[in-house]
Amino acid sequence: MGEGYGFQCTNCGKYYEANVGRGMDYERLYESALLDIRSEKYGKKLKAAYEQYENKVTIDPELVVYICPKCGNWKNQRDFTLYEQGSGKILRKYERKCGKCNEKMRKASTKELMKLSCPKCHCAPDAVFPTNLIMWD
Ligand SMILES: [Zn+2]
Ligand SMILES: [Zn+2]
Repeated sequence: MGEGYGFQCTNCGKYYEANVGRGMDYERLYESALLDIRSEKYGKKLKAAYEQYENKVTIDPELVVYICPKCGNWKNQRDFTLYEQGSGKILRKYERKCGKCNEKMRKASTKELMKLSCPKCHCAPDAVFPTNLIMWD
């Protein structure tokens, strides 16, 4: 089951959501994540790393929110950490840099998930509030 957080910006009125988790159709999530890796949607480096481990690699593409600890910019996407099949050992940690200030992003904590800033007007996180919890799958 996946969880969603819905927000209504008190400044500009924009409604936005963030979804986390794996959902029910994990197979589809997995397949589409592989497609994205192969099509270089998330970069050449990720594809190259994946192919380097091709026969022993697996992924756990749950949806996460990456947040910039410096400016609060966030991105809702899958986790592309590469694991070794069987052992679960991390072969390559997936890291994202903030598109705004180039700081290394990290996974948002539950507390941070409740205060994601508005993607339109970037108002301070305390000016927004989650309107509801959504089960997205
Ligand atoms: Zn706003
Ligand atoms: Zn940033």
